[in-house]
Amino acid sequence: MDASAETVRSALLAWYDDHARRLPWRSPPGSPPPDPYRVWLSEVMLQQTTTAAVAPYYAKFLDRWPRIEDLAAAEDGDVMAAWAGLGYYARARNLLACARAVAARGGAFPATEAGLRALPGLGTYTAASVAAIAFGEAATVVDANVERVVARLFAIEEPLPAARKAIRAAAETLTPDERPGDFAQAMMDLGATICTARSPRCLLCPLADYCRGRTQEPERFPVKPARKARPLRSGRAWWVEAGGKVFLVTRPGKGMLGGMRALPDDGWSARGDGDHLPPLDGPWRHLGTVRHGFSHFDLDLQLMLYSGDNCSRLSLNGEWWPLDRIDDAGLPTLFARAARFALADQGEDQGA
Ligand code: SF4
Repeated sequence: MDASAETVRSALLAWYDDHARRLPWRSPPGSPPPDPYRVWLSEVMLQQTTTAAVAPYYAKFLDRWPRIEDLAAAEDGDVMAAWAGLGYYARARNLLACARAVAARGGAFPATEAGLRALPGLGTYTAASVAAIAFGEAATVVDANVERVVARLFAIEEPLPAARKAIRAAAETLTPDERPGDFAQAMMDLGATICTARSPRCLLCPLADYCRGRTQEPERFPVKPARKARPLRSGRAWWVEAGGKVFLVTRPGKGMLGGMRALPDDGWSARGDGDHLPPLDGPWRHLGTVRHGFSHFDLDLQLMLYSGDNCSRLSLNGEWWPLDRIDDAGLPTLFARAARFALADQGEDQGA
């Protein structure tokens, strides 16, 4: 970057005053900060998730649990079910743990980045963003958008992930004492709307005059590490249906998709490739394969339909769930897709 930090901040904040995205959890530029509960809730939801996907969940949570004390008092299963579809379910468990910790201190969030960092589930990014946006602390907020903008502004040649240290150090040189919350959101907006991953719109960028990466193929920043193949794992899920109902289990509280309702499966999440036997002797019919991407691996889930007539020998703990209310079961995305697959298959069978 070839300008004083103050020049860059002023250019960015002036752009933000005119172009800030209107988002349900935002206060307009220059206005008093929003309620910390709303900032925190939106920031937890936004980790790894788009603003468009988060908006209906944010509205639903606030409608149902308008204050942090309400969320703290909610049943775990209700919160997990309301979260279903947003993915990365450890966030929902941490959300509850954090709500309860804040409620235990009278409902007030700590007002500093360091204090926030001590709460359950608040990592570096979330603590800094809540501190900056809700409390006006000069905290440096680095999400994937900011990382990209800073790597380009400073033309940081070191590849990720090692570059994160240099990117953070460079971002810290820009963090202002005045309007740190607006500045953080301006950087996020610039990354989301102008300095995008594939085709940065440098001609429209308020920082173009100060950007070193602009003339050096900006798309290549931040420099990516050499690509590793994503592992592919496989598992089986059991679709057992009787009397217009399907058999569902509740997954153990810890581990992947913990505490969520799900189809019974062969234990793929604990072992890599599942090795549990089917919950009934069979016969089983292979309905198809649902491919699903998790953060660190892809899963091929083989969906197996019980086609025998002796469900009474099923020995699992679980519940029979009406097929016509399957959308209300709060199934995580993988199993919701598997259920749609099974129901579509049987619709075809009946129509044949
Ligand atoms: S000039 Fe281009 S590469 Fe640099 S920050 Fe702006 S949009 Fe990104």
